[in-house]
Amino acid sequence: MHKKLFIPGPIEVSPEILNAMATPMIGHRMPEYAALHKGVTDKLKRLMFTEERVFLATSSAFGAMEGAVRNLVGKRCANFCNGAFSDKWHNVTLACGKEADAFKVAWGEPITPELVDSALATGKYDAITLIHNETSTGVMSPLPEIAQVLKKYPDVVSIIDTVSSMSALKIPVAELGIDCCVFGVQKAFALPPGLAVFTASERALERAKGVPGRGYYFDFLEFAAADEKDNTPSTPCISLIYALELQLERIFAEGLEQRWQRHAGMAQFMRSWVLEHGFGLLAAEPYRSVTLTCATNDRGANLAQLKKSLAERGYAFDDGYGKLKGKTFRVAHMGDMKLDDLKGITAEMAEILKDL
Ligand SMILES: *Cc1c(COP(=O)(O)O)cnc(C)c1O
Repeated sequence: MHKKLFIPGPIEVSPEILNAMATPMIGHRMPEYAALHKGVTDKLKRLMFTEERVFLATSSAFGAMEGAVRNLVGKRCANFCNGAFSDKWHNVTLACGKEADAFKVAWGEPITPELVDSALATGKYDAITLIHNETSTGVMSPLPEIAQVLKKYPDVVSIIDTVSSMSALKIPVAELGIDCCVFGVQKAFALPPGLAVFTASERALERAKGVPGRGYYFDFLEFAAADEKDNTPSTPCISLIYALELQLERIFAEGLEQRWQRHAGMAQFMRSWVLEHGFGLLAAEPYRSVTLTCATNDRGANLAQLKKSLAERGYAFDDGYGKLKGKTFRVAHMGDMKLDDLKGITAEMAEILKDL
C-alpha cells in the first residue's frame, strides 16, 4: 500500500506529474532540450520575480548548497544556524575547505536581522548562508527584514536556501537582493527528488570568477556559459525537467496569489488543530512556517505509536527530526496538498489519539 506522504519531504507527488516524467527521452544537445530549458527557466524567473540567471542542477538541494559556498565564499562565510539543515550547511562549508563561523540560535528560534547585522558589522565576512524556512523546526526567518540589513553590506554575497518555501509565499528574489537562491524540487514544488534550482546575480558571478577551487560539477561559470545556449554543463535529469515544466504550468494556472493563500489557509488550519488537541507549537508568532507545522508533544502522546497507527491507515507521518524526535511531530502542508488532505489526516489522528 502506498502511504500518502505528510512528512516534510519528499512531498506527495501528483499522478499527472509522475506521468510527465514518462515523456519520451530527448538528447540534451538537441534543440528540443534547449526549448524545454528556456521555457522552464523563464517560468522560474517569473515565479521568483527575477531577471537574473536561473540554473538547473541535477542533484538534491545540498549539491547546489555546497556548490554555492564553493563558488561564492572568498574570504570567510557566516553560516546562520537554527536547525538541522542550517547546522549541516556550516559543516558543509567547512568540508569545502572554507573559513566559516556558525552563528547558532536554539532550534525553534528564527534568525533575526539583529543577529545578521551584528555578525556582518565585524567586517570579517564576504558571504552568508541562511535557510529561509528551517524544515527541521518549522521556523521561517524574517527574510524581508534580513534583506534590508544585507543592503548595508554590498560586499557580502547572500546565499539563501528556500528549499521548503519557494512558491508557497512571495519571495521576490531580485527585490530582496538575494545573490544566490537555492532550492530542491521535492519539497515546496512536490516533484520527485533529484533536481536543484539556483539563481546567480551579477555580483555572484563576479565573485565566482575570483574564487579558486570551484570544481567542475557545480562551477557557476560553467553553468553561466551553458545557459547562454539554454543548456546545462552536463547531462541533466530531463524527465524531472519535464515534470517541473508541467508543475510550473499548474502553478500559474492556479494563480500565485491563490497558491499563497492556499498555503496560508492550510497553515492556519493545522496550527489551530494542534493547539485544540493539547499540543503546542515549537515556533512563536510570526515565525511559524506556512509549509509545515512543527508541534511540541505537550500532551505526552506516544508519537511512535501514532506514527505506526497512521501508517496502517495509509499515512506517512513524521515524529520529529534529529534531536527533536519524539518531542515534536511535523505535518507538511505544501506542494499540491489541499485543506481536505489535512482534514483527512487530522481526523485519523484525532481518532487514534483517543486511545493513546
Ligand atoms: C530537505 C532540505 C534540505 C536538504 O535537501 P536534500 O535535497 O536532501 O539535499 C536542505 N534545506 C532545507 C531547508 C530542506 O528542507
